[in-house]
Amino acid sequence: MTEQDAFLRLIRSKEGERPNMSYQHPFRRHQTRVVEVGGVAIGGDNPIRVQSMTTPDTHMVAEVVEQIRLLEAAGCELVRVTVPKAEDAAALAEIKKQIKIPLICDIHFDHKMALAALDHPVDKIRINPGNIGGLDKFRQVIRKAKDKGIPMRIGVNAGSLEKELVEKYGFPCPPAMVESVLRYLEIAESEHYHDIIVSLKSSDVPTAVEAYRLYAKQANYPTHIGITEAGKPPYAVVKSACGLSPLLMDGIGDTMRISLLGDPVPEVAAAFDILQATQRRVRKPELIACPTCGRLEIDLEGIVAEVEKALVGKKTPIKISILGCVVNGPGEAREADIGIAAGKGKGVIFKRGEIVRHVLESEMVTALLEEVEKWEAEELEKGNLGGEKSIENNRHPHRTRLPIVKG
Ligand code: SF4
Repeated sequence: MTEQDAFLRLIRSKEGERPNMSYQHPFRRHQTRVVEVGGVAIGGDNPIRVQSMTTPDTHMVAEVVEQIRLLEAAGCELVRVTVPKAEDAAALAEIKKQIKIPLICDIHFDHKMALAALDHPVDKIRINPGNIGGLDKFRQVIRKAKDKGIPMRIGVNAGSLEKELVEKYGFPCPPAMVESVLRYLEIAESEHYHDIIVSLKSSDVPTAVEAYRLYAKQANYPTHIGITEAGKPPYAVVKSACGLSPLLMDGIGDTMRISLLGDPVPEVAAAFDILQATQRRVRKPELIACPTCGRLEIDLEGIVAEVEKALVGKKTPIKISILGCVVNGPGEAREADIGIAAGKGKGVIFKRGEIVRHVLESEMVTALLEEVEKWEAEELEKGNLGGEKSIENNRHPHRTRLPIVKG
């Protein structure tokens, strides 16, 4: 069988059937155990969860809650607050009372803050065992988290790796990060504690990507993925996408955070856009538009802006393409669920690869939106629009699983 034949076979659900409209990537997801965080399941076959972190001092409850509500409205599914002082730990119960999503406390340097935070109704604790003052203190936190039934993220960072590992490997490289995390996992397991999520972050994209890849071959605790200290948008969004996309395409990542300097609310949209572009979690329409050039003979920017506005809030995972001329227009429009290929003052609308309408430029937006609604009704009727779970499972019918390789 040639490579092309193998590909055709892969994208057809039954032999002899027409291929899907677009290539469905055969994702192989890193097989991870499921960890429940405040009622949100992370790992296994669950959708990749999007999280963020607040910026005001945690004891400033009103400000923190206000920001969390904005994050919730943007679609954030878990939120983290930092707990550097006793007064921050004391504020956790009040914050928890006023928000809907699971609350994670973030601890650095002081294991006493971890122990204090665990006295409050938090849903997860995040620590970097390398900076809380030794393995005994790490064990104390593990034991208390276990007693309270609270899960933990063990967050190893390239920037704060143990001295001996940096000396052993010469610099904070991916194998050193993985050795560090495996060591902490072994300690947690010796305490019979398994409610763990792992992160191996770096602000250096290749380091982070290789660290997660190396880890995924050796353990099955779910991963929180991210490029730490990515900086200021838009570069930080591009950098995060560069780091997270290869991981997501490899099936690695069970929850993610995009770290942006400043307001955290845009982190949520950026995370969902990365998940959508990699087809790992699609929960809104995707609009494809050409960049325009000298061949353009309609007001493409105006049309795209109107369609984009009309689609705000829609959750349907439909692919819509709007192309300015016949060079690539018909081909692209055929691959989308609904597409327009425009000509001079007019265009044709394609649905599932077939021309369904000829329209004037003035009618394009209305006609396109009508066709989108019809498409939604038809897909609903066929049972293809069952919400996100169906997207996660049904849009990738050929997905297989990576075997777990224990180190
Ligand atoms: Fe130019 Fe046509 Fe390509 Fe748009 S689709 S960029 S108008 S050649």
